[in-house]
Amino acid sequence: MNELLNVQNISKTYNTLLGEVNALENISFKLMEGDFIAIVGASGCGKSTLLNILDGIDSDYEGSITSNNNKIGYMLQQDTLLPWLTIKDNAMIGLKIKNITDDNWINTLLKKYGLYNFINRKPNNLSGGMRQRVSLIRTLTLKPDILLLDEPFSALDYQTKLLVENDIYNIIKKEKKSAIMVTHDIEEAVAMANKVIVLTSRPARIKKIYDINLENNVNPLINRKDPKFNYYVNKIWNDLDINE
Ligand code: ADP
Ligand code: MG
Repeated sequence: MNELLNVQNISKTYNTLLGEVNALENISFKLMEGDFIAIVGASGCGKSTLLNILDGIDSDYEGSITSNNNKIGYMLQQDTLLPWLTIKDNAMIGLKIKNITDDNWINTLLKKYGLYNFINRKPNNLSGGMRQRVSLIRTLTLKPDILLLDEPFSALDYQTKLLVENDIYNIIKKEKKSAIMVTHDIEEAVAMANKVIVLTSRPARIKKIYDINLENNVNPLINRKDPKFNYYVNKIWNDLDINE
């Protein structure tokens, strides 16, 4: 298996008017091809800070990240579709910024994932789940090797979240992408990931890394009923600093 990212000893301190805020301390891990890594930690521990560094948005940190020129796509928790543009135009934004007008690939993706009948609609006319699907497809149009997901389902109600989780997972696997998702939701992490990294509260350090070996790894919906699902959820729950 190819190594896509090697994250070594990342530390990050914000300098604010009120003083220094230590956000990350000595974070190290590797992302291998095909991995779906979930990073769990309490709110405010430093998860988004870490993703911003991995994405290159924030270059002010200590430590090193080695990657073989892999392209990275970023999908956020908020619904970032522009309400005045159609679904097609929203999905095209990434391409337009790069002056690519060829829409074959985007049409293929929209058809493949059941959105083609909606391309002339505005985001407000779609469900939250479908909007997240459009967001993912917009990210996929730039053909990233690695997807970074920042709490992508946290704005959805519980029932919808289970379905959208499953939907997004299936697309990521079908497109053979590797992913790093941060979340505060332990069940979501165990249902989706093959590896779960547990962070301490701020400053975020790595507390534990679990390889998730369910009896049958099928998809997040089915994984939630796996005999070993609760075993991992309970273990990670006990690791989280909110219990200390
Ligand atoms: P999480 O995503 O886990 O909720 P964040 O990475 O957003 O946490 O934030 C980690 C800590 O860093 C928080 O205490 C937050 O207030 C602080 N922080 C985040 N961004 C900034 C910033 N731009 N300037 C100063 N402090 C920040
Ligand atoms: Mg965050």
